[in-house]
Amino acid sequence: MKNAERMSRSERAERVMASLRKVIPAPETELVHDNPFELLVAVVLSAQCTDERVNKVTPALFEKYPTIEDMATAEPEDIFALIRSISYPNNKAKHLAGAARMLRDEFGGRVPETSAQLKRLPGVGQKTAEVMISAAFGGAALAVDTHVFRVANRIGLVSENAATVDKVERELKRILPEHTWGDAHHLLILHGRYTCTARAPKCAECVLPGLCKTWDRMEALPAARDGLDPGRGAYYCATRRHYFDTPDRISDRHGTEQVSCPRCGSMNVFNARTGVTTKRVKDYRIG
Ligand code: SF4
Repeated sequence: MKNAERMSRSERAERVMASLRKVIPAPETELVHDNPFELLVAVVLSAQCTDERVNKVTPALFEKYPTIEDMATAEPEDIFALIRSISYPNNKAKHLAGAARMLRDEFGGRVPETSAQLKRLPGVGQKTAEVMISAAFGGAALAVDTHVFRVANRIGLVSENAATVDKVERELKRILPEHTWGDAHHLLILHGRYTCTARAPKCAECVLPGLCKTWDRMEALPAARDGLDPGRGAYYCATRRHYFDTPDRISDRHGTEQVSCPRCGSMNVFNARTGVTTKRVKDYRIG
């Protein structure tokens, strides 16, 4: 089988989605909701907050304000009292009150289905609009959140210089068939949430080794070296075969800062105490 570096991005995307579908049979949002309005509220609340936390506050919120008209009569302070455990509760309370009023006054009490109209609502940006189009209305949309951004980059579904959410969205839409966008969004989110996590990806449990560029790069890292003598220096340069204490730093071709030898600039450097390479594989996170 080709390794991940040699595969075209669309070929890799097709195989990745097929593999993820086998372990994630129900790729759908984990935000509990019964209708488009409830989903809109939950997605606005979920910005920089976990779905789990959002699901804890929405039952009481929806009980008090079951309809757009009900929430449109609420003051931001009333909503704040019910969502205070969520991140940025002040702003989100203002957004929800404002959005409900706009839905009542300008959209006939219904959640609109187009991106342009959705993005007129307070608190609704590109990502929320895409989630709504796809998850609430079954339209062709692919929202890129922090998980999708990180996972798409790690696997290598997007180009090395896809450094922004907009670019990742454009590139994913280019390589994935339109009818799979909604599924792909949820597959990548759930994979990022439970397996390819931000701090410590569970590569040993992952179904994507062989399809993932980050995995390939980690596999290509030099093995730990035995027999180094930390008494002679903190680092060992395996190119010039000498020890040193104060390393230089250098950016590799992926833009990752690496420890380098102050004498020859080599990145073939090992920690003398542990014997482990100092080379790091680029990671991808928003912010
Ligand atoms: S192999 Fe590791 S880095 Fe690659 S997708 Fe799986 S968990 Fe993420």
